[in-house]
Amino acid sequence: MNTKNDLAKAYDPKPVEEKWGQFWLDEGLFVADAKSTKPKFSMVLPPANVTGILHMGHALCFTLPDIITRWKRMQGFNCMWLPGTDHASIAVHNVIEKRLAEKGLTREKIGRDEFLRIAWDWKDKYAGVITGQLKKLGASLDWSRERFTMDEGFSRAVIQVFVSLYNEGLIYRDYFLVNRCPHCRTVLSDIEIEHKDLRGKLWYIRYAVEGSTKSVVVATTRPETMLGDTALAVHPEDERYAHLHGKRVILPLQNRPIPVITDERVERDFGTGAVKVTPAHDPVDFELGKKHGLEQVIVIDGAGKMTEAAGPEFAGLDRFAARAKVIEKLTEQGLLVKVEEHEHAVGHCYRCQNIIEPHLSWQWFVRIKPLADEAIRVVENGSIEFVPGNWAKTYFEWMYNIHDWCISRQLWWGHRIPAWYCRDCGRIMVAMEAPDKCDKCGGALDQDPDVLDTWFSSALWPFGTLGWPEETEDLRTFYPTDLMSTGFDIIFFWVARMIMMGLKFRGEIPFRQVFINGLVRDLKRRKMSKSEGNIIDPLEMIDKYGTDALRFTLAALAVPGMDLALSEERMAGYQAFANKIWNASRFVLMNLKSERPTVREGEISLADRWIRSRMSAVTAELSASLEQYKFYEAADLLYHFIWHEFCDWYIEFAKVGLREANATTEAVLADVLDRILRLLHPFMPFITEEIWQHLPGTGRSIALASFPVPEAGWKDEAAEKTMALVQAVTVETRTIRAENKIAPKEKLRLIVKTASREDTAALEAQAVSVLALAGLTSLEFAAVLPEGEGLLKGVAGPFEIGLVPGKPADLGQERDRLERELAKLEAEAEKLERKLGNAEFVAKAPTVVVAENRSRLAEIQARREKLGQNLAGLTRSS
Ligand SMILES: [Zn+2]
Ligand SMILES: [Zn+2]
Repeated sequence: MNTKNDLAKAYDPKPVEEKWGQFWLDEGLFVADAKSTKPKFSMVLPPANVTGILHMGHALCFTLPDIITRWKRMQGFNCMWLPGTDHASIAVHNVIEKRLAEKGLTREKIGRDEFLRIAWDWKDKYAGVITGQLKKLGASLDWSRERFTMDEGFSRAVIQVFVSLYNEGLIYRDYFLVNRCPHCRTVLSDIEIEHKDLRGKLWYIRYAVEGSTKSVVVATTRPETMLGDTALAVHPEDERYAHLHGKRVILPLQNRPIPVITDERVERDFGTGAVKVTPAHDPVDFELGKKHGLEQVIVIDGAGKMTEAAGPEFAGLDRFAARAKVIEKLTEQGLLVKVEEHEHAVGHCYRCQNIIEPHLSWQWFVRIKPLADEAIRVVENGSIEFVPGNWAKTYFEWMYNIHDWCISRQLWWGHRIPAWYCRDCGRIMVAMEAPDKCDKCGGALDQDPDVLDTWFSSALWPFGTLGWPEETEDLRTFYPTDLMSTGFDIIFFWVARMIMMGLKFRGEIPFRQVFINGLVRDLKRRKMSKSEGNIIDPLEMIDKYGTDALRFTLAALAVPGMDLALSEERMAGYQAFANKIWNASRFVLMNLKSERPTVREGEISLADRWIRSRMSAVTAELSASLEQYKFYEAADLLYHFIWHEFCDWYIEFAKVGLREANATTEAVLADVLDRILRLLHPFMPFITEEIWQHLPGTGRSIALASFPVPEAGWKDEAAEKTMALVQAVTVETRTIRAENKIAPKEKLRLIVKTASREDTAALEAQAVSVLALAGLTSLEFAAVLPEGEGLLKGVAGPFEIGLVPGKPADLGQERDRLERELAKLEAEAEKLERKLGNAEFVAKAPTVVVAENRSRLAEIQARREKLGQNLAGLTRSS
């Protein structure tokens, strides 16, 4: 492999990422072995939409589980993380039909075969785009096991599940009122509908009572549906309408009589208390219609156009044009009594955002209750755990109120429903393979034209991808999987259904834990969207800051149960972190011989003992954070340890040791860097691989190296305590220098007032290091700090210290400077106090942000106090 000392001068992520990304693939490092005897850790990746373009949500959804997988792999697990793509029926239809429309074509015009040919071409061309982009993120996926929801084996699994559920009576066909998107021209399941409050109107329409001069007024939000009314309903105990019981009213515009029915479900305080009943176009009316045996008149078709049944004046009109015309006609005839403003929830298609239309038609359904019961139980008894745990509540709420699932879609791209209808006797045959004739009358058969809901197939993802229905080795080794990482928005669409199907067809849960990640938002916590212009594109960020910086940013922001407030500044900050690591590593590598020296315990210095003690503590804390998926905590630990302890202090100490040619320091330096790289690898895989490969005595890939464990023998409280003294004196000396604008190069004397014998002796023993770190000519101890030498004073831990200035300080100038500085600090403190005094901010802002603000305020207050004292001292002495 590489030789030492040839690490490039500056870190350039691009070539490094390309090199190692390719290396990992070529070497097949992430290809799992189903025969391995190691404990397994398996995951299936939520299949990416073939229409997809990488966005920040993907980046998050890949980075966090990749951190876990790489960590587990380094811990010796046989990791299998399976990638794949989803055929995304509706999304693909929308893309292709839009293109057809541009050429004046429709899918019906070109026909099913031609449409599917275009869809396959399109899939072959674009599925690679999203997988290529995913590879850039460095996710350690097993690409040898990549699957597609419409590949041959997976399709067979889908059909087998359909057939077997049908044979058990858990799939049935029914003439039912379902949600239909007139734009996408397919029905949708209940959860594919987004309800939005719209400001609409409530129209009051007068219906004449048959054979009488009386009339009754009904209120409706959808006047166009009145053309399909087949009854008028009142509450049985509503005395206002008792005289109508058993009567009929005349449906305006259609001039046909419809019965008045009574039903307890009528809300007496809605509108006038009398309601029109349109069984074919409203879910409540549909139920009423079934109960009372009402006729179902369809006046709006699947494309949102009025049918012949709506009458010659309306037939062919769009539903909204028909509404206007109905209102116009009713007004002309004096039947429109009044109009009120009315806000109400209206269902919209989750794909195209058009208003959905209740639609009566033959559809296929999954009888869900028997499947749901078991799926509720496995979460209740803890077999499956949601992280964070409160998501289980959301899951239960939905599962307890679950409705049968409409799975047929009037689309072509997808798994075609394996049902055939006899042209002669109407018999329905459901089978794995197409039957050639009706098994009852021998008549010719037609296959159901519809395909299955895309979520029906993705529900089988955890076992369908592993070779089911064959009893494969993969299935035996890797099912159930260990972790499912996904967004909260698909808990119902996907997570719940995978649990139901896994239990039904494998008799086992599909995964043990469900990690729900937050949404990636902008710094003001707004959703990223094209219209807001606040999208941060992950590919652009990778280009600018490197993949490692992007990954580290996402991890650092991932607080369980919270959305992420992303900014480019954070990425720039972590790019600087990568550079810091790079430079520190170059220093270490330049000082290393080609072989790793060994530590001689007798020669070990205070700094060596200290960094080992800290290293071991951080290793333990990091593992604890990862066990709990506290990515932000893990990232924060690494950042501070690497930057502030390893780079800022240890390397500085090591320079002193290296000057003395201390082989043990060299050994500790190399060992600590090695461990740091391995701890950081799951977060920043590329830069760590590059540096690690330059370290002498390492192996094939850091991805396969062992994850560091805490070393019990390294804990050293005495070293940590002494180190704290050295750091305090050094930091305070540097602060005094900075405050007095004394160049770091100017070597000065430092006088330390003795504290306890133990502390004084400990500091004295480290004099060589303090001299070097604080830029001193001498370190002197005195029982009392001398007066009258213009000593620049400060406090460092238990010590009072005084820096002897090289030339007399200009007191007036110093006073002005202190005053200016104080004013600045006061302004900032005031701002923070105001913010923290705002109850709304404290309640709404993430706890980490509030804590950051608080600690910043405390910092400012401490500094203010110190400067204030210095200023008072100056005023006294002048
Ligand atoms: Zn739609
Ligand atoms: Zn037949």
